[in-house]
Amino acid sequence: MGDRSDDGWTEGGCLCGAIRYRIDGPIAAGCHCHCSLCRRSTGAVVVTWITVRRETFRLLKGTPRRYRSSPKAERSFCGDCGTPLTFQRLDLVGEIDITVASLDAPEHHAPDRHIFAANRVPWLRLDEHLCAYAEEGPPEPAG
Ligand SMILES: [Zn+2]
Ligand SMILES: [Zn+2]
Repeated sequence: MGDRSDDGWTEGGCLCGAIRYRIDGPIAAGCHCHCSLCRRSTGAVVVTWITVRRETFRLLKGTPRRYRSSPKAERSFCGDCGTPLTFQRLDLVGEIDITVASLDAPEHHAPDRHIFAANRVPWLRLDEHLCAYAEEGPPEPAG
């Protein structure tokens, strides 16, 4: 357990401990996503994601529940405690997004931009110095 980013791996999991995962590889700078689907699916006004190459993401314990959150993406969460875990675009199967807050040490993975900033809740003031894209912004190569 823990975060060993300097050595190339990172672990995380859900609130109740039923799901544990490990990332064996680099983690690209993440984003704060303000889209309405992230908001509704988590119950949070903004969701911070990191992106990794799919083959570096490995479940150590448990099987998350999955559902199609839109025609082009699937999300997973812990079926016991509800922690949102991943976002998988069906047309981009080589990478997967992971909720930074489910990492054991999210403090090591600061995001570098806002996406879907046009949908932002107007009273939220957060990291105003970061780039803000109205929608998805430029593609971020994972790893
Ligand atoms: Zn859980
Ligand atoms: Zn989103």
